[in-house]
Amino acid sequence: MEPIRINKSTSLSAAVLDEATLEKINRFALEPLTAEQVFTFKATLCDTRIDRDGERFTAAALGKMKELFVGKTTIKDHMMSAENQIARIYDTELVRSGDETELIAFCYMVRTAGNADLIAEIVGGIKKEGSVSCVVSQRVCSICGKNNLQTPCRHIAGKEYDGEICCKLLDGVEDAYEFSLVAVPAQRSAGIHKAAELPEKMPEDTRENTQVVQALLLSAKAAAYRAKYNIEQEEI
Ligand SMILES: [Zn+2]
Repeated sequence: MEPIRINKSTSLSAAVLDEATLEKINRFALEPLTAEQVFTFKATLCDTRIDRDGERFTAAALGKMKELFVGKTTIKDHMMSAENQIARIYDTELVRSGDETELIAFCYMVRTAGNADLIAEIVGGIKKEGSVSCVVSQRVCSICGKNNLQTPCRHIAGKEYDGEICCKLLDGVEDAYEFSLVAVPAQRSAGIHKAAELPEKMPEDTRENTQVVQALLLSAKAAAYRAKYNIEQEEI
């Protein structure tokens, strides 16, 4: 099987806009932008935790995505068109969180009349879904070590085998596409989407000052791949 494109969950939160940040952003701008012209936010693109699909990225996969996502666009509604390109990733960072690693993307938008509403929605913490797309060449079974993109096996992610829960390790990142915001939750078919709710109470000062938005999380693999994979599981 060829490398597959997958979509994974994201969440958004605060980003600080200082001189160093502006310098990074201006590497992508044709003319230097001022702090007043720019709106920034950061997104947790993915991490090494096992997700609802029973999959997790390896630390090496996150390291590769850290490189590949710099300069990539943030789009909305999964539509890769000029008017849907709402932001650009100007920096990325790997952050340790306990035993896990998270890949953080820092995004900027140029404030225009056209995106004022969207920025207000982000600042206001309106729920958003986000998803991240990349291409991997390895989906390795934690039980038997087979790369299921080349060799299917009988182990099913999330099931227990001799006391060990099977998960599939995503590695061999070959490309990173984009990070997408979606205004309205898509069809919530079982297993392919996941959501994180806005916390019931957020500190007022945080909400006002740091442009925090907690996103709904979306994890959706390419439908064609999932369909194919399910068929293969049944055949084994
Ligand atoms: Zn296996």
